[in-house]
Amino acid sequence: MSLMALILRRKLLHHPTPVRLQLRLLSSSTSHLETPPQRIEKILVANRGEIACRIMRTAKRLGIRTVAVYSDADKDSLHVKSADEAVHIGPPPARLSYLNGSSIVEAAIRTGAQAIHPGYGFLSESSEFARLVEDKGLTFIGPPASAIRDMGDKSASKRIMGAAGVPLVPGYHGSEQDIEIMKLEADKIGYPILIKPTHGGGGKGMRIVQSQKDFIDSFVGAQREAAASFGINTILLEKYITQPRHIEVQIFGDKYGNVLHLYERDCSVQRRHQKIIEEAPAPCVTNEFRSHLGQAAVSAAKAVGYHNAGTVEFIVDTITGQFYFMEMNTRLQVEHPVTEMIVGQDLVEWQIRVANGEPLPISQVQVPLSGHAFEARIYAENVPKGFLPATGVLHHYHPVPVSSTVRVETGVEQGDVVSMHYDPMIAKLVVWGENRSAALVKLKDCLSKFQVAGVPTNINFLQKLANHRAFEEGDVETHFIEHHKNDLFVDPNNKEISEEAYEAARLSANLVAACLCEKEHSTLKESYPGGPSLLSIWYAHSPFRVNHHAQNTMELEWENVYDSSSSKPLMLAITYQQDGNYLIQHTQIGENSAHSSEVRALHLGNNSFRVEADGVAMHVSMAVYIKDQMKHIHIWHGPHHHHFRQKLCLELSDEDETQHKTSFETTSHPPGTVVAPMAGLVVKVLVEDGAKVEEGQPVLVLEAMKMEHVVRAISGGYVQGLKVTAGQQVSDGSVLFRVKE
Ligand code: ADP
Ligand code: ADP
Ligand code: MG
Repeated sequence: MSLMALILRRKLLHHPTPVRLQLRLLSSSTSHLETPPQRIEKILVANRGEIACRIMRTAKRLGIRTVAVYSDADKDSLHVKSADEAVHIGPPPARLSYLNGSSIVEAAIRTGAQAIHPGYGFLSESSEFARLVEDKGLTFIGPPASAIRDMGDKSASKRIMGAAGVPLVPGYHGSEQDIEIMKLEADKIGYPILIKPTHGGGGKGMRIVQSQKDFIDSFVGAQREAAASFGINTILLEKYITQPRHIEVQIFGDKYGNVLHLYERDCSVQRRHQKIIEEAPAPCVTNEFRSHLGQAAVSAAKAVGYHNAGTVEFIVDTITGQFYFMEMNTRLQVEHPVTEMIVGQDLVEWQIRVANGEPLPISQVQVPLSGHAFEARIYAENVPKGFLPATGVLHHYHPVPVSSTVRVETGVEQGDVVSMHYDPMIAKLVVWGENRSAALVKLKDCLSKFQVAGVPTNINFLQKLANHRAFEEGDVETHFIEHHKNDLFVDPNNKEISEEAYEAARLSANLVAACLCEKEHSTLKESYPGGPSLLSIWYAHSPFRVNHHAQNTMELEWENVYDSSSSKPLMLAITYQQDGNYLIQHTQIGENSAHSSEVRALHLGNNSFRVEADGVAMHVSMAVYIKDQMKHIHIWHGPHHHHFRQKLCLELSDEDETQHKTSFETTSHPPGTVVAPMAGLVVKVLVEDGAKVEEGQPVLVLEAMKMEHVVRAISGGYVQGLKVTAGQQVSDGSVLFRVKE
């Protein structure tokens, strides 16, 4: 094992080896300083989910005690269990709990914590919060409040960066906001241009303007949206780069003016302007470019007197090769682990040490760069519905095992609820390899083994991304998903694998797994007494008929009635042999031939089987649960994941993760009915009940964490039954209103 792997192993496995907060002073400019006495002995983590757990893991390793804060929705969550102490701070909505700065500071004082780590999101980029923490005599584990303020305004930060010689996207970022003057500025820049709210975030309020005639409308729209979302309606203009990559640089500073960078991450693969796969270092980048980018980022940080962890985001024009400063994020980023993997350092440890007054542990020339790392963000979301956040119970959660090169950052456990109140991210899968292709092999392998059931996820979509030729070649840009949508959202009828033996084995594997599951899975029967057994759901439903149950041998006869012209009776005999071994003989009778095969299955425990059929062996895992009056059966085998659902006692259908057959969802609503596309909060109702609306007219606005969704009239007519009001929670699929002609 390489030295790097050893370092990573020590750092990233969860051994709480206390390290005294003493470091060698390496930077000559700070050598006159004494290492300050240890002050931070207890940290309050003002966050939840995976980032809270991840921060606490490092704190524990350093021998520092931890305090969690939690809302009513999180009282049993992993981040609370991971902390030494936990303080309740309010009801589920974030603005009443995780955004309530004064009650969080109070909790820190009450529990005797000396420092607060804000994580990312929530209060992490609030300069008021950072100031409040310091005013109360506590240490804010993050940058100075002044730097957060300077960087929170995209126009001000551009002016500072321009003065410091950092390259800027051609544009207008002055204080003038008069629409006619702005229009002249837009002409000077040249179309297409991008309009951005100066105080924006999360891609909200941004508008691409293709030509002069659309300028006024877009400008007014952006102002309105900015005022509504951020409370400030100031706007800046930028040249719109048509084929950009998003490349950002991790920087770090201490309180003595030392700043270094830890190379770059490519975060170009985005949906809805949000990242889903990140990697470090950026693919297809020369060392010369890398070092220019790093130096520009360090200059940016120095220009605002930065210390602690920060990220300088650049947009790279793939046509000209030119890079430009976009914005600086004054916090630890979600994707920081890919940097940790290639430099073998723990950035949370650095954050704590720097906040504690220690100098940076190494100098720029000592920052190693080893191998390549990917992060894939696993979300509870509905990919076919346009990546809308999903909610529900994690009935089955089996992430891949961690090792020195595989990390799983998560804040949930099996049985937890993904609620509408917070970010729907379930986990971050982070892998490291000696080079990009080795890391990518590992990413694909881990994604295919990552098991989540109970809520729809983007795992299948991530697999398609990771397997895409252009992604394999590192040919990424911010419109990657849009450009390759024909490959990424494939038709479920196009089966990729046609090899006959493999098909037979897969079919057998599914059948076997289902049968075995029936024998092993007693909980389902208990939870649904008197209901149809799994086996009968599987087979007694139209395509299959159960003929006979024997103690150890089951014989089934089934025919596929979906396509009556080619119904294929099948005989299946399952014999329990011994030691968890089953022998399955199945005979499928085709039109002119009979195919007979023997399948051996070994139950490995935990609903997991080794199945061998027609010379192909594979591992099969299953999960079975009941949700919303539906029985769900998940089967994982090889790189495949199948999800079968059945409305109890009705019919059975199969469903690929990314391709929903909506036969169950389109239940008996009258025409014109509009249902909630996701669970969320009604933030605005735009028309009154009974109002006349045009087709496509916005009727109400729903919000779930980080995401606003406009619900529109599906046809022209009169709105009926609109009873929801602003502030009300609605569940996925609930009826919102109806439009009647
Ligand atoms: P936010 O604060 O919402 O993150 P950013 O300024 O960082 O806003 O931009 C978000 C995303 O929008 C970027 O990652 C990039 O994909 C796209 N983007 C930003 N500026 C430009 C530009 N000038 N041209 C093209 N795309 C851009
Ligand atoms: P794969 O997608 O890997 O081919 P599936 O689990 O979708 O595997 O099923 C394999 C085959 O088994 C299907 O092509 C179909 O003929 C048959 N089959 C499995 N489950 C059902 C079902 N519920 N209804 C009808 N046919 C089924
Ligand atoms: Mg950004």
